[in-house]
Amino acid sequence: MFSAEAAPFAKVGGLGDVAGALPRALEPIGAQVSIVMPAYRMISREKFGIRSCAAVPSFEVPVGSGSVRAEIAQTTAAGTGVTVYFLGGSDYFERDGFYDDPVTRQGYADNSRRFAFLARAGLELLRRLGRPVDVIHCHDSQTAMVPGLLRTVYRNDPFFSHTGCLFTIHNLAYQGVYERDALASAGIDPGYFHASSPFEFWGKVNFMKIGIETADLINTVSEGYAREILSGPEYGCGLEGVLRNRSGSLYGIMNGIDYEVWNPETDPFLPAHYSPRDLSGKSLCKTDLLCRMGLPRQRGRVPLIGIISRLADQKGFDLIAKASRAIMAHDLQMVVLGTGQKEYHELFLKLSSLYPEKIAARLGFDNALAHQIEAGADIFLMPSRYEPCGLNQLYSLRYGTVPVVRATGGLADTIEDYKLESDSGTGFVFRDYTAEYMMDALERALVLYADSGRWRGLMVRGMGQRWAWEGSAHKYMELYEKIVALRRAGAGRG
Ligand code: ADP
Repeated sequence: MFSAEAAPFAKVGGLGDVAGALPRALEPIGAQVSIVMPAYRMISREKFGIRSCAAVPSFEVPVGSGSVRAEIAQTTAAGTGVTVYFLGGSDYFERDGFYDDPVTRQGYADNSRRFAFLARAGLELLRRLGRPVDVIHCHDSQTAMVPGLLRTVYRNDPFFSHTGCLFTIHNLAYQGVYERDALASAGIDPGYFHASSPFEFWGKVNFMKIGIETADLINTVSEGYAREILSGPEYGCGLEGVLRNRSGSLYGIMNGIDYEVWNPETDPFLPAHYSPRDLSGKSLCKTDLLCRMGLPRQRGRVPLIGIISRLADQKGFDLIAKASRAIMAHDLQMVVLGTGQKEYHELFLKLSSLYPEKIAARLGFDNALAHQIEAGADIFLMPSRYEPCGLNQLYSLRYGTVPVVRATGGLADTIEDYKLESDSGTGFVFRDYTAEYMMDALERALVLYADSGRWRGLMVRGMGQRWAWEGSAHKYMELYEKIVALRRAGAGRG
């Protein structure tokens, strides 16, 4: 598995959770998995027992007209037999950010070179390890050069003759679009840069397009999103045509959640534990969270809304900005954890200074606090404009924190709207992307919250749902097997 993130080593969002949990879920059903990822400076060698890779000494990797020395380190993921290889070279991953410079908040200018290096050095590592692999599973645009290289530079390399490739799209909006010299960085002949080639996209190089066109099979992280990205430019982000050409090879597989990491009965980050049978620990978590965030404890039954998110347009913060007065007019409190676009940092700073008793924001990345918010909040607000899968709504279900979501992608696939008549459903769902519809769903939640009996029933129903990895891991296994069969039959890509 090639990924730019894998928890617990490096995580920016859901990709990190998936690349960390899926290998663990595949092991018991018969896959032998290794992970190849960047050796980011932020990863603690001591904490994770990371050491130099004795089997593969450093080696030169061609980058553009020169070369870069690749250094390989490795460890074993805790409680598994999964080997994790960390690739370093030049100063590519010796920085304070994963993708963006934390000072300018812009992507690093050499991202194409950094991730072309990851792909090239990773494939060279596999050759040097000497054991051919059946399938390389690549995640998102940062690793899309892997199938691109397999179809070009390594096309006639016998070592890879039976190696197939699955490409998973976690978020189509982050495509990795670069100038044409990005091809040379990966060592791919400029002759491949022409109209109708996977390696050209409107005069540029688009990593996501390369992944979609050159992998044997592709998938995305929910069935809903798989349909949406074929539907037109709004969700297809300009690649809808490219995707339609491959629609016969496109699958939707819902992410699971790692119940060992996200479990309110055992979660080490929580001040108290709880279960559907005994929810008393959840009130302790709420009190602790209010105190931690500097919010006063209110008299009576006042709902606490939680948000944990990248602060990006995708996540619906323009709706929250528009509705902020209406939200704050209600008797409620709110905690926000997130980092991202400057305007949303400013929004939450402003709201917390205007309503210091009602809203508190932590503008940064804090894994422990993410767990504490899932446990301590009553309602989880996630009004995404689009959502390939979404994990926080699933964590919320498990933690008895009722999700209020927009019906898009994975949110629509996982949250069932509450119906008063039948007292059924697992959350509150709105369809049209407007502040009014979002408020309508939120207000329905607030009304029901006042009815503690029904609310408890709703919480417990959500907590009993199972979105474990096992089912999805089997579906991935089926795709891997399909790829192996395709390549054996000589019907794979390239
Ligand atoms: P996305 O991958 O689009 O960011 P997901 O809902 O799929 O959204 O996954 C987000 C993951 O990142 C969740 O595990 C969430 O808890 C975590 N996360 C997001 N922002 C933060 C933050 N500021 N601090 C800690 N964890 C965060």
